[in-house]
Amino acid sequence: MGFKRGRRLDKLGYHSQNTAELFFSNCRVPKANRLGKKGAGFPMMMKKLQQERLNVVITAIFIADRILEWTIDYCQKFRVGGQPISKSQAVQFAIVEMSTEVKMGKTFTEKLVADHIEGRDIVIETSMAKYWITEMVNRVADRSLELLGDYGTLEDCYIVRAKRDVRVMPIFAGTNEIMKQIVAKFTSI
Ligand SMILES: Cc1cc2nc3c(=O)[nH]c(=O)nc-3n(C[C@H](O)[C@H](O)[C@H](O)COP(=O)(O)OP(=O)(O)OC[C@H]3O[C@@H](n4cnc5c(N)ncnc54)[C@H](O)[C@@H]3O)c2cc1C
Repeated sequence: MGFKRGRRLDKLGYHSQNTAELFFSNCRVPKANRLGKKGAGFPMMMKKLQQERLNVVITAIFIADRILEWTIDYCQKFRVGGQPISKSQAVQFAIVEMSTEVKMGKTFTEKLVADHIEGRDIVIETSMAKYWITEMVNRVADRSLELLGDYGTLEDCYIVRAKRDVRVMPIFAGTNEIMKQIVAKFTSI
């Protein structure tokens, strides 16, 4: 009663996770099924948002790291003119730039996880990480595809799925524009 299922929606990425329409209209939930105090749902959700965003950051870093690993492996194996393309300075510079971004993101994320476990307030840093690292993983995915050439456009190439999956990261769990608003608000800019 008061609840209807709608269509299953086809998405750009995250194909292993279904997304569907759910319609609630005068839907009544028995008191015994209520989580927490009456009227406290929104603050409860807000409190857990840091953890959700941290989870997105960790996933983004993990994917960026795997993309980097795959890219280095490919560039060391794929040869042009008898030489692996990883011996070209242009490719080396691209990989060094990708590695630097991934390493910086990883170091920041490890510190955030440690602070979260210690129970410290990480609202500002989590918002910074959510915006920067989810954009960084998209940059890394783009550069990887570029280095792979036509192979990077084939459905059986790792980068195609990775590119689809990372595109939503700057959007879900609060868009990156909202992350910047949070940082501006909490740092009193
Ligand atoms: C694959 C996927 C899975 C999801 N899973 C979940 C889930 O499990 N649970 C859940 O609750 N939600 C989920 N979401 C929803 C997600 O959190 C929202 O899509 C996201 O927070 C953005 O909200 P919106 O789509 O309403 O965008 P809108 O708020 O409509 O934003 C549209 C654009 O306007 C900009 N904008 C909006 N307000 C402002 C502002 N004040 N200042 C500046 N710019 C602004 C945004 O940055 C964005 O660019 C999911 C979304 C996707 C795509």
